[in-house]
Amino acid sequence: MGYINTRDMLIRARKEKYVVGAFNIVDYSTMAAVVGSAKEKKSPVIIQTSQKTVLQFGYKILPLMVKSLAQEVEVPVAMILDHGTDIEVIKNCINYGWSSVMVDGSSKPFEENIRMTRTIVELAHEKNITVEGELGHIGGVEEHINVSEDKVLLTDPHKAVEFQKRTGVDSLAVAIGTKHGLYKGEVVLDFERLERIMEITDFPIIIHGCSDLPEADLKKIISYGPSKMNISTEIKHVYLDSFKKYLNENEMEYEPIKAIKLVFDNIKNLVKGYIDKFGSSQKAWSTLLIH
Ligand SMILES: [Zn+2]
Repeated sequence: MGYINTRDMLIRARKEKYVVGAFNIVDYSTMAAVVGSAKEKKSPVIIQTSQKTVLQFGYKILPLMVKSLAQEVEVPVAMILDHGTDIEVIKNCINYGWSSVMVDGSSKPFEENIRMTRTIVELAHEKNITVEGELGHIGGVEEHINVSEDKVLLTDPHKAVEFQKRTGVDSLAVAIGTKHGLYKGEVVLDFERLERIMEITDFPIIIHGCSDLPEADLKKIISYGPSKMNISTEIKHVYLDSFKKYLNENEMEYEPIKAIKLVFDNIKNLVKGYIDKFGSSQKAWSTLLIH
C-alpha cells in the first residue's frame, strides 16, 4: 500500500519543513530495519540503493523486497537508485520497478550534465518515476564516487534554478561542503549558500553526506529546510561493527541469526534517531488519498 515515488513525499517535506531520511541499505536486514523504523515512527522513508548494491543482488529482487515490505506498513515508502552514473544501470532500475532514480552527471560539464539528466527525466517521467539530479560536486569517497578536495565544487544557486528548469528534475542534490564517508578534520559548511539556494528555488533540495556530521551542523542544515538527507556511511559502520561485537562477545558461538538480529536492532536504533532529528516522525499520510 505504501510504495510511492518521491514526488509528494519531498514536496510535502519542503512545505511542512521537515526532512525525509534516505537510508542506504545493503541487504534484507537493513531494508527491513529501515522500513520497520519508519513504521514505528509513523514517518515517510526512502530506501536507497547504490549501484554496487544493485549489481550485487540484481535488478529483480530488490524492488520486489521493498514493495512487499511497503505493503505491510501504512507509511509511504519510496525507493531510489543513489548516484546513477551508468545510463544502463539507471535504465534498468527504471524498468525493474524503482520508484525513483538519481542521475549523477555532476562530474560532467554543465551542458553535458543537463543533457544526460534531461534524457533520464524523459524516460522516468513516462513511467511515473521521479528523478533526483546533482549540480556541484560533493566531496569524499562513497562506493564508485571519489571526489578529491581540489575537485569539490559548491553549487551556484542561480545555476541550480536553471538546471532544474532545463532538465525537469523533481529534486536536486546540492554541494554546500558536506562530504561522503567519514569527516576528517574540521567540517566547513557554506550555510549562506544553502540559505540562498533555499530562497530562490521552489523544488525539493537534497543534501548528501549527512553521516558523521557534528550535531550542531546537522541541526543547522535541517533548519534551512532541505527535503531529503542521505545517510549511508553510518549504516555501513553500524552493520559491520555489530557483527564484530557479536563475534567478539561470542567467540565459540556460530549463530548467524543472533548476529543478524543484533545488526537489525542497531540499524533500527540509528534510523529511528535520525527520523527524530529530521522531524519526520508522525508525518506519514495515507497514500490512499493520492493514488
Ligand atoms: Zn551521495
